[in-house]
Amino acid sequence: MSWLGGDDAELDEFDEFDESSIRTRPNPKANRPRTKRRPAHEDAEIGRILGVDRGRYSVLLREDRADERTVTAARARELRRTAIVTGDRARVVGDTTGDEGTLGRIVGLVERSSLLRRSADDTDQVERVVVANADQMLIVVAAADPEPRARLVDRYLVAALDAGIRPLLVVTKTDLADPSAFLAHFDGLDLTVFTSARGEMPVDEIGAALVGHSTVFVGHSGVGKSTLVNALVPGAGRATGHVNEVTGRGRHTSSSTVSLRYTGPSGSGWVIDTPGVRSFGLGHVDPANILAAYTELAEIAEDCPRGCTHLPDAEDCALNEAAADGTLSETGRARLESLQRLLATFGG
Ligand code: GDP
Ligand code: ZN
Repeated sequence: MSWLGGDDAELDEFDEFDESSIRTRPNPKANRPRTKRRPAHEDAEIGRILGVDRGRYSVLLREDRADERTVTAARARELRRTAIVTGDRARVVGDTTGDEGTLGRIVGLVERSSLLRRSADDTDQVERVVVANADQMLIVVAAADPEPRARLVDRYLVAALDAGIRPLLVVTKTDLADPSAFLAHFDGLDLTVFTSARGEMPVDEIGAALVGHSTVFVGHSGVGKSTLVNALVPGAGRATGHVNEVTGRGRHTSSSTVSLRYTGPSGSGWVIDTPGVRSFGLGHVDPANILAAYTELAEIAEDCPRGCTHLPDAEDCALNEAAADGTLSETGRARLESLQRLLATFGG
């Protein structure tokens, strides 16, 4: 299921945090009547977690209905070890009016369709769950200032493909540099690419790709992600262009992950903006998930020896053989190179 650094033990531990497997502890108030201890929560409403601030969750209830409301909620005590993140679907009880000063209570989570996790860097063992239930990842990279790094984009791509999330790429600041040499890195990958320049942001084109999806925006600080989010979602108010006077580097004042509703001519979708992510640890990405994103190559690889790495030096690799004997077309060979580059990102 998931990815991005850590080891199996951590993943197992994480799974324990899921609502379905929370261990019940001895209850010091066990002599109270059972009904008071454990309400059935049959009246729970399911809502979308929009954001988290100091233990308080913003939950959108009755989405797209006339009585849609945003409720502030705290997690029930039995969920105190459960990671609840932006994009999660939560079951909420208690006061769900959303009136000023009221507080609902989150009593459970709906099973996630995807989960994006990261560690701060490759040596950091601490895993953070970033976003739940996203089905697209929009990777923002600048043509210059800061210089684009193909390796960082590869890592985002691996993260997305491993989590079963469709990647999209936006190259900003094309008024400063021509991105074609950089973009050549991604030939062979099924990747929708948008380019954006100062004063010429392709808001409608990008917006159309957001409709009906939940899209997590990722990018290094300073690439223009907040500028883009503010253009797509008027009123989003993401802080832009803040420079840390001590380091001189871009500083993210938008420090928490939030869901924002995109509304465009052809419909609506969710933008999930993440604070600047320096790097993604990729410790336990499953190569099979990356291969699966290259459908036609995955078919050929069925003839590979067990445990084949599919890297250029892999012996008896059906993919390398197909490339050598001309079975693969030129496009197929480009796609194999792209696949091998991604596999090498975390395998080697
Ligand atoms: P973030 O850190 O990725 O959220 O980046 P910001 O949105 O704060 O943008 C960083 C800086 O880049 C700001 O000074 C923006 O005005 C500038 N910027 C954003 N998009 C463009 C662009 O397309 N061209 C140029 N030249 N500058 C841009
Ligand atoms: Zn192989």
